[in-house]
Amino acid sequence: MRVRTQCRECGLGFGATIAAGDALPCPNCAVERPVAEAGWDAAAAAVERCPLCDSEHLYQQRDFNRTLGCLLIAVGIVLVPWTYGLSLVVLSVVDLVIFYLLPFAVVCYKCDTVYRDARPSGRQGDFDLLKHDVVKYGKTWEDQRRKKG
Ligand SMILES: [Zn+2]
Ligand SMILES: [Zn+2]
Repeated sequence: MRVRTQCRECGLGFGATIAAGDALPCPNCAVERPVAEAGWDAAAAAVERCPLCDSEHLYQQRDFNRTLGCLLIAVGIVLVPWTYGLSLVVLSVVDLVIFYLLPFAVVCYKCDTVYRDARPSGRQGDFDLLKHDVVKYGKTWEDQRRKKG
């Protein structure tokens, strides 16, 4: 399963391929994160529980390469003097088309890891800012779970 993740120690964002039971080392500071075996299935392209942070809260997102998007716009800007601004329009459209052709990936609300090979299940809807804030910064749900367990 290909992922894009961010190191919790040094903040470096990097891409990697994970397998169940693996340890995922950071290419910069070498701090390893364990990859859980349960809750996800690489063969079925399903992630129900984040193998890196154990969060059940995931959402779907187009697997969009931001660098490529910015690059396209930059090319459009550079070509403006020769195309009288038309390049910007054309490349914005290209950008949009690429975006809609992209497959969905599954993203973790808590640790922002993108599971590039995962296909969202029905439960995994679009990004919800409120949910994101509760999962990431709020304590409400965590507290409730603690009371139960
Ligand atoms: Zn690191
Ligand atoms: Zn996570």
